[in-house]
Amino acid sequence: MAVSEQSVLKDGLGRELHDLRISVTDRCNFRCVYCMPKEHFGPGYKFLAKKELLSFEEIERLVRLFAGIGVRKIRITGGEPLVRKELEKLIERIVLVDGIDDISLTTNASLITPRRAQSLRSAGLGRINVSLDALDDETFKAVNDVGVSVQKVLDGIDAAADAGFESIKVNMVVKKGLNDHCVLPMARYFHDTPRILRFIEFMDVGNTNRWDDSAVMTSAEIAEVIHAEMPIEPIEPNYQGEVAKRWRYLDGGGEIGIISSVSQPFCGDCSRARLSVVGKLYTCLFAADGYDLMSPIRAGESDDQLLERITGRWRSRRDRYSETRTVESVLRPKVEMSHIGG
Ligand code: SAM
Ligand code: SF4
Ligand code: SF4
Repeated sequence: MAVSEQSVLKDGLGRELHDLRISVTDRCNFRCVYCMPKEHFGPGYKFLAKKELLSFEEIERLVRLFAGIGVRKIRITGGEPLVRKELEKLIERIVLVDGIDDISLTTNASLITPRRAQSLRSAGLGRINVSLDALDDETFKAVNDVGVSVQKVLDGIDAAADAGFESIKVNMVVKKGLNDHCVLPMARYFHDTPRILRFIEFMDVGNTNRWDDSAVMTSAEIAEVIHAEMPIEPIEPNYQGEVAKRWRYLDGGGEIGIISSVSQPFCGDCSRARLSVVGKLYTCLFAADGYDLMSPIRAGESDDQLLERITGRWRSRRDRYSETRTVESVLRPKVEMSHIGG
């Protein structure tokens, strides 16, 4: 269904809805210290049972509804999305939804074998973003906290490239005292390669990662460190609302991106909604709670009734957390990253 000019859905601050991020599992084979720290997500942690998660049929139905009100991009995330069984079947369903023209996956890549990469490609997945926070095993193992080596992730990236995925982006969360010394090695490694490296400021998502603003290496600091060795200059965004600020190497060695949710928030352009693993609609990464869509679905509501809920929720949206972050707001209860995905 085409969205006519008059019917363009806008939130309470005039922002349209274009992207939907879907978390397909709360589980992960990593325990990144900034996301699922072991003290909280240890052996005693109770992950959700399968029936508590949105089924692929339910996700597909919601994607159809969202596509009808302007969503064009779907990002599949988690937890680690590749631990959800038969993820390819979900991708195959989403590919067929009218209006969706971009399906991407955010993954730690440790489970991407050549065979898996091929099956993801055959299912119709368009793009892959890989998270990698260091190039030396000592640091990387300190980040993932489960002993996975860097090579495992690099092999996953290669497998994805061999399967035909183009423009694989590599995302690095930078936390001072943990991996800030890896900014330059990462930049050097991916300089002049087809991979676009993107640096992400450490964010206060959830309440378990002991966020502290002194641990944030700001985008300005990241750019400065890189510029001192490999000069860069800012370039125009690819499209309005692009989250990463783009920079290119003056020597022609490609580009990098820096995502500065903390030091230079971009709420004014935020066109993203998130669907949590239990079917709650979140209109901000830092929200305390989401809007339950699973219960009405399972109670048998019609598409029209569900659409009314979704559009009503978007219309009343006024989120701009990062622009208004305070010492107090950091401590407020917030949903965990593994439930809604990055
Ligand atoms: N497991 C997959 C992965 O790591 O790519 C997908 C889910 S993960 C929650 C999505 C993204 O969120 C990753 O790039 C991760 O590095 C990022 N992330 C998690 N916690 C973060 C935090 N506190 N600050 C900034 N980025 C974070
Ligand atoms: Fe898992 Fe991704 Fe979170 Fe790391 S960032 S713990 S890989 S969900
Ligand atoms: Fe969007 Fe919330 Fe992030 Fe602002 S803080 S950019 S509203 S997700």
